Amino acid sequence: MNHDPSLDDLRHRVWTGRRITPAEARRLYDLPLAELGALADRRRQIARAAAYDGRGNQIVTYIIDRNINYTNICNVGCAFCAFYRAERAPDAYVITRAELDQKIAETLALGGTQILLQGGNHPRLGKQWYLDLLAHIRDRFPQINIHGFSPSEFVHFQKLFNEPLEQILADFKAAGLGSLPGGGGEILVDRVRRQVSPRKAMTDDWLAVMDAAHRLGLSSSATMMFGHVETRADRIEHLERVRAQQDRSGGFTAFIGWTFQAAHTRLRTPMAGAQEYLRTQALARIYLDNFPSVQSSWVTQGPAIGQVALKFGANDLGSIMIEENVVAQAGTAFRMTVAEMRRLIADLGYEPHQRDNWYRLLN
Ligand code: SF4
Repeated sequence: MNHDPSLDDLRHRVWTGRRITPAEARRLYDLPLAELGALADRRRQIARAAAYDGRGNQIVTYIIDRNINYTNICNVGCAFCAFYRAERAPDAYVITRAELDQKIAETLALGGTQILLQGGNHPRLGKQWYLDLLAHIRDRFPQINIHGFSPSEFVHFQKLFNEPLEQILADFKAAGLGSLPGGGGEILVDRVRRQVSPRKAMTDDWLAVMDAAHRLGLSSSATMMFGHVETRADRIEHLERVRAQQDRSGGFTAFIGWTFQAAHTRLRTPMAGAQEYLRTQALARIYLDNFPSVQSSWVTQGPAIGQVALKFGANDLGSIMIEENVVAQAGTAFRMTVAEMRRLIADLGYEPHQRDNWYRLLN
């Protein structure tokens, strides 16, 4: 047991829900894993106490949605990506309306409420193609939320369409866009981004999209992909940037962290294991005191660690991921049914509940 009085004071401040600094986060990172988990669980209890009419700490949520990648054509070439293809590659594609409709109909048949619509940075699809796509989905499937287009895609649109970001976001919203995923966040430190994705949106660009989206009433998630070339200090800087953004614009519904999956990518680094994943998620829950929800990442960690993560600060098990092309291309192929998801939650003594994108309970 460490009796450093300043560390004891820090433990007390975390336990009582106080905001921590980057230097304090660095100290917490080195705590024994079980202790860090207990502190994160405490912060989850504080964050969720008032949710669902005071039942927030009895409930763990999940969403049924489908990841639809509308194209794999992309000329950005991120080092960690196994998904993108050149336009002339034999397996390059742009989704057809028939394929899209079939995927959404299947999602609805499984009780789904949302599609996660993302794609590569296609060099030639124009603005009207996207507006028509959104309007088509809205008109044909008005009950489905379109959670679509990461900030990196909007930065690409800004350049390709040569229009102000706010105008593009407003037009996409009017055409049916419901919310934004936090994809492309990776690590929000430009030194790291220059190493792993030098041609993609940099930190300030990513945050500017979130800021503009939140101000238009489009909520989003915030993500972090870690366990590659970054340091722990970089991860803390990432958390600091999204916490400060949340203070300014308040539209992040949840934080989702996941570990880099290396297979078939150009990035040759040792991957982070379960211990580092849980430690980092716990720290994120403590640091992000203005985020209502933290989602565990069973897609990259597997169902067992995804379940344990519910004791390390997470209050949501994410999506059953009817389709997840990007992670699957990088060698991860975990699958889960709604029944399995509900059992994982119930086995820990929580009530499983399906939710929508805004964390409203559906059942
Ligand atoms: S991560 Fe996205 S932007 Fe980067 S290469 Fe893959 S599809 Fe393109």
